Amino acid sequence: MSFNTDLKVGVLGGGQLGRMLLQSAININIDLRMMDPDPHAPCSNLIADFQVGDLEDYNAVYEFGKDCDILTIEIEKVNIEAMKKLQSEGVKVFPQPEIIEMIQDKRVQKQFYLDNNIPTSSFVLTESKEELKKYINKFPAVHKIGKGGYDGRGVQVIKSQDDIEKGFDAPSLLEDFVPFKKELAVIVSRNEEGEVNSFPVVEMVFHPEHNLVEYLLSPAVIDKSEAEKAKKVAIDIIQKLGMVGILAVEMFLTKDNEILVNEIAPRPHNSGHQSIEGNFVSQYDQHLRAILNLPLGDTTTKISSAMVNVLGEDGFTGDAKYEGMEEVMKIAGASVHLYGKKLTKPFRKMGHVTITDPSLTSLKTKIEKVKSTLKVKA
Ligand code: ADP
Repeated sequence: MSFNTDLKVGVLGGGQLGRMLLQSAININIDLRMMDPDPHAPCSNLIADFQVGDLEDYNAVYEFGKDCDILTIEIEKVNIEAMKKLQSEGVKVFPQPEIIEMIQDKRVQKQFYLDNNIPTSSFVLTESKEELKKYINKFPAVHKIGKGGYDGRGVQVIKSQDDIEKGFDAPSLLEDFVPFKKELAVIVSRNEEGEVNSFPVVEMVFHPEHNLVEYLLSPAVIDKSEAEKAKKVAIDIIQKLGMVGILAVEMFLTKDNEILVNEIAPRPHNSGHQSIEGNFVSQYDQHLRAILNLPLGDTTTKISSAMVNVLGEDGFTGDAKYEGMEEVMKIAGASVHLYGKKLTKPFRKMGHVTITDPSLTSLKTKIEKVKSTLKVKA
């Protein structure tokens, strides 16, 4: 069968993930059309068919999707009913709407893990802050809002009774605090034929205050047996979901070397940016291969890499200016990616830098150099 480059592929969301997906789509001559609520979104000026629309609005999503052959997402906050309707009318919606719907609610997501024997920390459901008082014996614990949280907003560690005030007065869950050694992520993929594969396990190091990934190492510095276990869990999840596309699985490696799933994202993910330079296929190439039902690519690591998020400097809001670009570009193996966001705000994700280097020590030195050199100010 010949490869049809006229396929109409729609993407809900036109942010940085869409921007990198677009770069992969260009390589195989597939035109993407995108919708985003922000007229200045990172993809707004890059494609012929960029539409401004509310991703949570039924009509906007339906109208956008109805002429597409394939519809995908780069963000989970999308109108599910419209996607289900489109699917029933023959549009291939990948990831499938029921899966996005399940993931949109952390409470339902946790129940899925329980029902499918996926290892995760135990939890109880709560409807109000007040209810937390019943669970004092569970502290320290982590309170998570069911719907609408992202990038750590919607997550509160409740160490003792004094923290109950920080909890959520909305349908939420309270889960056991996991004393973890490392936070890991695995990106797995599955195409319509049911072919599956996994990227190497990566390790994320979080900013202590802002709950955003500060830097990431690929592959993770863990034992082979731990890596195998993590990959197996991730593959198990995508197979049990029967999902088409790529799925990022965030996990904890506990002090007892157990793997516990934290959460999943059915799309390209922050933990896979470095695959552009570090692996034979990138997560973006792989997502397209999966949703177009092409053979999945080889995810093998070409060279070990690190990814540093470039965040808006604290104290600066306004038109973004990048300091230190030239110095960073002198670092061997450093590739700068700027997302094209006009406005910087404290801790806004403005770009990332991938660093490739076969030596872990040298990688770490370069991470520090990038962090202290590249600044986004206004
Ligand atoms: P978000 O969906 O906003 O990214 P997460 O559920 O991933 O939220 O939580 C954000 C961060 O909070 C995690 O990356 C981790 O560092 C910490 N965290 C979340 N759940 C737990 C837990 N059960 N135990 C310990 N730390 C946790």
